[in-house]
Amino acid sequence: MKKMLKYRRMLADNLPPGRPILLLRAQNYNVVSLGALLGACPEEILARVEVVLWEKNQPAPDLPPGHPTLRAYSFMMLHAEKVSLEIAALRRDYPVGGKHFFVAGGALASTDPEAVNALGFDLVVSGEGEEIFPRILVDWLSGKIATGICHAGPAWIDLDKFPGFHPTVGYLPPIEISRGCKFGCNFCSVPRLFRGTLRHRSVSRIVEIARSYREISPGRRRVKFLASNAFAYGSAGREPNPKALFELLSAIRAAGYPQICLGSFPSEVRPDFVIPEVLDVVRPFLTNEVIVIGVQSGIDERLEVMHRGHTREQAVKALELLKKYDFTPHVDFILGTPGEKASDQRATVEFMEELVERFGILIHMHTFMALPGAVWKDKTPRSIIPEVHERLRALSNKGVLDGWWENQIGYGRRKSRA
Ligand code: SF4
Repeated sequence: MKKMLKYRRMLADNLPPGRPILLLRAQNYNVVSLGALLGACPEEILARVEVVLWEKNQPAPDLPPGHPTLRAYSFMMLHAEKVSLEIAALRRDYPVGGKHFFVAGGALASTDPEAVNALGFDLVVSGEGEEIFPRILVDWLSGKIATGICHAGPAWIDLDKFPGFHPTVGYLPPIEISRGCKFGCNFCSVPRLFRGTLRHRSVSRIVEIARSYREISPGRRRVKFLASNAFAYGSAGREPNPKALFELLSAIRAAGYPQICLGSFPSEVRPDFVIPEVLDVVRPFLTNEVIVIGVQSGIDERLEVMHRGHTREQAVKALELLKKYDFTPHVDFILGTPGEKASDQRATVEFMEELVERFGILIHMHTFMALPGAVWKDKTPRSIIPEVHERLRALSNKGVLDGWWENQIGYGRRKSRA
């Protein structure tokens, strides 16, 4: 692991005249991406700029005038309204063509770059940022930066080439072990973001990152991982690879980490990957009590319409197994998907209630929102019927259901009115 230089999170008192500033607009939702981008930059490039974080709801940093400033944003569809207002306000002080250059990346920029471009950014980057961001920084420093929309790639980045974090952002994130997904759920934008590919970081690189975390934070005892289907680690994507999981977990244990969390937030697993051969391997290593699992619906017909690639029976079997291996399942469900009938909603909430009784599951509830890049990107959410809404609230009041589902209902309504 390359030696990390120390960077200031605040502006230096005596900034040399004209020194360029890289201003990262940091929020809870993008701190991992910003760390990954900084981590992807060679130290000699970062040494040419003053890295400053503008964090969450803090007032905008008081930048000394006259310094060229690259303002970097990364966000998803849900955050676009707020970002749009912020950019509009900033553009009054920093018009196009001045010393401040606004660049955007992230999930929305990747799936709908034209929409992000229309918010007032100078440059929108569609695709993975690790290779392209250092080049953008160099181009900007040399005064030869392009404007408009640029597309990263065409090759996918090799996760092993990048650490996925940088100490400047003040957060050592869950280690990304895999990126992408070989499945194609119609409500999800991951397949489009990575065009149906799945890549893994090597065990040796993951261990190296875990060791770096320990150097930065010597008391650290726990490792968490990031993946859209954690039990797919090391596999071709459609079936688990227990041997690869064993190699990963035993190497992390050998690196001296007593607490290992896999399959819990921010990663999750698919029901068809919860099989005894996998659980036999992972159970002895894992210290997380909860496994997050995507079930989405209790009706086979709806699972088929969603293109989930698993059945209700597989989901029930997976939950049974998780309980048998002493995990608490935290189960993702989605309601309000296109074509859903009131009877489907009733049957799904009944299924949830049954699973709470039988297996003591927790529910992570979602309502459908049309995501850019998803197959269902243009579909309108079905409204949740009052009876089902009440039953979901009752589960929430019992403390067994969480999630942003009510906010998602409001967001979906606003979007369909727009
Ligand atoms: S919901 Fe999960 S399994 Fe389905 S496409 Fe998205 S990441 Fe893959």
